[in-house]
Amino acid sequence: MSDIADGAIWRVEKDVQNAMAHARKQPMLESDGRCHFCDEAIANALLFCNVDCRNDYDKEQAALRRTGRR
Ligand SMILES: [Zn+2]
Repeated sequence: MSDIADGAIWRVEKDVQNAMAHARKQPMLESDGRCHFCDEAIANALLFCNVDCRNDYDKEQAALRRTGRR
């Protein structure tokens, strides 16, 4: 009985690990002096002008991946 439950938990953990490994394989963004989300001019080493833009960009990319357009 408990073998089945253990197997289910193992599966969930593997799914989480797969999802995290997939997330890490995202191409590295290159900083070009512009926010990648709103295109505002920012310091060269930065990718986004603030945390909100970074979060929105992440959400947008996740949505694109879910719909299979990337
Ligand atoms: Zn921005």
